[in-house]
Amino acid sequence: MKTYKIAVVPGDGIGHEIVPASLEVIDAVAKANHFRIDTETFPWGAGYYLKHGLFMPDNGLETLKKFDAIFFGSVGLPEVDDTLPAKDYTFKVRTHFRQYVNYRPVRIFPGVNRPLKSEKEFDFVVVRENNEGEFVQVGSQYLPDLEVGMGIDTSIFTRKGIERIAHYAFQLARTRRKKVTHITKSNTLIHSLTYWDRVIKEVARQYPDVTHNQMYIDATSANFVLKPEIFDVVLTTNLFGDILSDLGGAIMGSLGLGGSGNINPEREFPSMFEPIHGSAPDIAGQNISNPYGQVWSGAIMLQHLGEEQAAQQIMKAMDHASLAGFLSVDLGGKYKTSEITSAIISRLNG
Ligand code: ATP
Repeated sequence: MKTYKIAVVPGDGIGHEIVPASLEVIDAVAKANHFRIDTETFPWGAGYYLKHGLFMPDNGLETLKKFDAIFFGSVGLPEVDDTLPAKDYTFKVRTHFRQYVNYRPVRIFPGVNRPLKSEKEFDFVVVRENNEGEFVQVGSQYLPDLEVGMGIDTSIFTRKGIERIAHYAFQLARTRRKKVTHITKSNTLIHSLTYWDRVIKEVARQYPDVTHNQMYIDATSANFVLKPEIFDVVLTTNLFGDILSDLGGAIMGSLGLGGSGNINPEREFPSMFEPIHGSAPDIAGQNISNPYGQVWSGAIMLQHLGEEQAAQQIMKAMDHASLAGFLSVDLGGKYKTSEITSAIISRLNG
């Protein structure tokens, strides 16, 4: 029987609830589709840092490398310096494993009240450049305690980095509605983002069958709210994508709905699948967190592993469960994490 080796990193907070819940869904769909998921769980994250002074052991990346994929919750706790989780875990894995695509779909969940007035349907993907841009953490502080103090962060946009994410976006668009909107702010960031625009336009010429347009980040934010139906593939820088995908979660109805994949398209390393939200320590331990985003991340993982049918079954089961009213508190519902999980599992067979 086909077996996939999955490294499981629940992380912190609600990760300890929604990751095991999603694994139940994945296990059930695996049985129905005659493949196996072999998991090994690693207790890494901010909780681990409080005990060991590290987010993961020194050989953590070596350990993860041997798996087919990483199923991740979220890292971070209020009592731990908030600059550490990204630097010491998330960005480390994304960068070392060349997961340069952050794939973040946005769509309608049936039965979920959305904050937008418009009833128009939307279904698009934020493709966020995941390895460079504004989040490279190259910079310094100069004499921060003095009046002359300053802080500098440098954004880095390389031709190679832009080309590879742009190719991914255009190829993805070919499998969808054939439209790429690339997000920029080159009218003010006149060095880095004019280069971003230029290289994307060069790549766009190789995909004459795909419609391409450019949109400023400020206008994009307004359009996410006013006319999200115009988007298909939204190609963004690291920072813009971070912000836009939370807005994407919000227009779906809750951050708790958003799933994502940090993808190494060349498959040189395992890819990592996680919800778009954080560890939500404010609601952890109460069995009230919304599992849909984490379950969706599981479906994206199965799709990446080639189990398309299983992924589609999860998506359909989620739709049936949300339509039947199995909604968590953040969606105005009353159902517990475990009840929603059971509702999804019981709908896996249509
Ligand atoms: P990060 O910086 O890691 O993205 P954050 O501190 O900005 O995290 P989140 O942990 O995403 O924030 O939480 C933001 C708000 O959304 C919190 O009030 C949290 O309870 C809520 N929230 C996030 N995820 C869920 C979920 N799965 N179910 C219910 N509520 C959620």
